[in-house]
Amino acid sequence: MAQDTSRNVGPLILVGPPGSGKGTQAKRIAERYGIPQISTGDILRDNVARGTELGMQAKSVMARGDLVPDNLVCDMVATRLRQADCERGFVLDGFPRTAAQAGWLDAFFEHEFFDNSHGKCLPIVILMDVDYNLLKARITGRRSCPTCGRIYNVHSQPPRIDEVCDLDGSKLVTRNDDREEVIGERLAAYEEQTRPVVDYYKRKGRLVSVNADLPVEEVGARIIRAIENRNAAETVRPSSGA
Ligand code: AMP
Repeated sequence: MAQDTSRNVGPLILVGPPGSGKGTQAKRIAERYGIPQISTGDILRDNVARGTELGMQAKSVMARGDLVPDNLVCDMVATRLRQADCERGFVLDGFPRTAAQAGWLDAFFEHEFFDNSHGKCLPIVILMDVDYNLLKARITGRRSCPTCGRIYNVHSQPPRIDEVCDLDGSKLVTRNDDREEVIGERLAAYEEQTRPVVDYYKRKGRLVSVNADLPVEEVGARIIRAIENRNAAETVRPSSGA
């Protein structure tokens, strides 16, 4: 896919249940537009692995499949979004995950994220719409490369050699919270706490739903189309022809 780094894309948000393909698509969008992928799950896992204060607070919550408290995650996201590489845009994957986080993010954009050429930047929110019956298989089949972060699925996106990364030959790993015992808890957390986020963006008219059961390439193409349509709509301004 050709890379397009010529313009501002603004904030992109991927919402969807665990296993819906947010990580895979966020990576593709990030590569396509040359913007950072900001995965709160990845940042938290990195903190757990490094044994930071945040990691120690988050570790047991994550192992149970529950959500880390809003204030911890919002502070972490604020720090990340203030970095210079977010200026042209970024793709958020796994955040916001509660109505409180969504409200916090809007306030953050209002006060801090200001794009001079387009006025205030509203996020494009993509809902990864999946068949719930397929989710369990998608999650238990998930493997990732500990070196490059590429995500595979033993059912739908297998590596060329079993359990080995195509790109760098590392042995693939299964996430600690992708075990059957924890999956139910994570799906319940999604239903109770993240569904309201979907409703929040729907009410604001910012949600674009994409059928995430389609093959990875097709889902990616639909997401790019949604982003391009929105960006095209935004560049047609009443004053632009005057
Ligand atoms: P993920 O990789 O997005 O599935 O996230 C893995 C785990 O990290 C989740 O099950 C939560 O425990 C935690 N987590 C990630 N993002 C958030 C968030 N926005 N709010 C609270 N907890 C989060």
